[in-house]
Amino acid sequence: MKYKAFVGIGSNLGVPTENCEEAICLLNTSPKIEIVDRSNLYESEPVGKIPQNWFVNTTVAIKTSLDPESLLEELFKIENSLGRKRKEKWGPRIIDLDILVYENYVINSATLTLPHPEMTKRRFVLLPLSEFAGDYEHPIENKTISELLKELPENPQVRKISSTG
Ligand code: ATP
Ligand code: CA
Ligand code: CA
Repeated sequence: MKYKAFVGIGSNLGVPTENCEEAICLLNTSPKIEIVDRSNLYESEPVGKIPQNWFVNTTVAIKTSLDPESLLEELFKIENSLGRKRKEKWGPRIIDLDILVYENYVINSATLTLPHPEMTKRRFVLLPLSEFAGDYEHPIENKTISELLKELPENPQVRKISSTG
């Protein structure tokens, strides 16, 4: 398992905490992916115009032998196996798995943008990520996760909801 990546996980349908935990299990079960770090679970106020339930969010660090496109395919498979129906962007979903960063790659293809273009604006990404990757330097911004987090406004709200011990 050669490459390191961070994956963002979110859910706001069904039992979101269980969906996030199940997604982490499925990631770890995948033969070409190994979880090396994970964050607590957070609840976060939905962003955007669609009225919907609060989300549960978390992040994981993985080691993988998959290239970025293959990793994205694997994330789609896990989303599908948990019952994700692809509907509108930013709408309610059983599970959402995004590649946040992959090594220090910068990619802008039709299917994949790396680092994830919204991550620097999202407290629900940077706060969980800061648990294990506070010193990680963003490949484009040249700031660490902790520095980027400090620049964000307090709202929309993000609150820790569990300890993983
Ligand atoms: P956002 O990407 O702003 O968080 P979203 O997760 O709701 O929005 P989706 O509907 O889940 O968006 O995905 C739309 C498309 O985004 C996917 O089909 C995928 O090809 C593309 N995509 C581009 N970059 C990434 C990335 N880094 N991680 C996951 N999907 C990505
Ligand atoms: Ca997303
Ligand atoms: Ca997504």
